[in-house]
Amino acid sequence: MPGASFLFWTIEVVVGTRLPGEGMASTIHSMSAGLLSYEAAAAQVTAYARKIRAGGCSTERAELAHAQGRVLARDLKADQDQPPFARSTRDGFACRAKDASAHKFLCIAVSTRAGEAPAGPVPPHSAWEIMTGAPVPSGANAVVMLEHVEKLADKAGELVRLASPRKIAAGENIVARGAQARKGDVLMPAGSVIGPAQIALAATCGYTALEVHMRPRVAILTTGDELVPVECKPGAGQIRNSNAPMLAALVAASGGEPWVLPAAADLKDALDAALSEAIEADFLLISGGVSAGKFDLVEPALARIGARFHFTGVRIQPGKPLVFGEVPRGGRSRGSGKAKSLPFFGLPGNPVSSAVTFLLFGTPVLAALAGGGAAGPRFAMAELAADTNRRTKPGLTRFLPAHCDFNPRAGKRARVETVPWQGSGDLAAFARSNCFLMVPEEVGSLKAGAMVSILLI
Ligand code: AMP
Ligand code: MG
Repeated sequence: MPGASFLFWTIEVVVGTRLPGEGMASTIHSMSAGLLSYEAAAAQVTAYARKIRAGGCSTERAELAHAQGRVLARDLKADQDQPPFARSTRDGFACRAKDASAHKFLCIAVSTRAGEAPAGPVPPHSAWEIMTGAPVPSGANAVVMLEHVEKLADKAGELVRLASPRKIAAGENIVARGAQARKGDVLMPAGSVIGPAQIALAATCGYTALEVHMRPRVAILTTGDELVPVECKPGAGQIRNSNAPMLAALVAASGGEPWVLPAAADLKDALDAALSEAIEADFLLISGGVSAGKFDLVEPALARIGARFHFTGVRIQPGKPLVFGEVPRGGRSRGSGKAKSLPFFGLPGNPVSSAVTFLLFGTPVLAALAGGGAAGPRFAMAELAADTNRRTKPGLTRFLPAHCDFNPRAGKRARVETVPWQGSGDLAAFARSNCFLMVPEEVGSLKAGAMVSILLI
């Protein structure tokens, strides 16, 4: 399982740098054997993410209604004991457990509704009617459920007793004051990603807004002479730019603020101009132009602005030409509030390759820049529904578009099936997928029934 082997990878990590020049891409991509394995590349990225996580980033206040997906910048502490009073978890009768377990009829003293102030004490041999969420009166140490009592009316009023042979122990159906947290306890550490549960917790502690990290601004630079904007009708040989909105969606879902730049042509000057603008971002994603083709000019353009390359190619499919590095900002970072260098990925242009490489390698860097904890690609285990019939050459870790049924019948495991596809440009197949089946490098094909790793989208 990827999560388990991550520990191992971090031991092997070697963060290398290289400076490619013009024409370097073709040398690199002709030598698959010299490329990093998926594990080694993931380890480098994880190590890099850990390094940048230490750097502080600016914060802002987010109203609870807009806090979903944000990253907490300061520890959140309990403003009072939780719960603030001993609370009944049932509708029923608060009493002494010893009295109830003796099965004697107890007279009903008073009644407490949720929202009423704590009261008591409960008179001897009495029961106190109580509603779920109401404070347990002093003197009582258990709440007998309404469903478990027998009632009797007599001249003195209504009587109740615990139906025989049931017994009740002290503390049953009561959450003691402070059982969940004590005033001042850290309930959520800085770096927590805020979701519905965290919003509820903040609300219960009286926070109407939370101090959160600013979202990192992620420049999305798509490249390619063939690209036209989505609203245009493509001419002969042209295609619509689908990577820009797709990457923007992926970035937003991972806590970044997408900054979509106009697509750049496969021309030296166009790339130089686009990169001089993109350098202002906190993180840069470039799509296209990193393969071995004659017009794949992204690496030389990055080299011209002083980029350091950590790796240029990974033994994965799709996504083999992936490039990872950083551009030092030099004196420009001083006083600008920006980090000393701009991390970037050169993602292969095929849409599925772009998506897979962002999910695998872009997410940990983005999470670190966003101030979050060890977030990264999300993997799960599922049972393979059918053999992967296509034997492909080993030596590449593959990520095949797949669909996982996460609602299996009772007692069954989540089952995953590959989605037939026509390669990494097949957006229709991608849209039918909800995960990628990971086929390890040394495995040619997988058999039905095997437990496999899936990368969640
Ligand atoms: P490249 O990585 O530039 O060699 O592009 C590989 C494939 O991805 C080519 O078929 C491109 O047309 C396609 N492609 C590149 N960029 C985009 C994009 N922004 N949107 C959709 N397809 C793209
Ligand atoms: Mg291209």
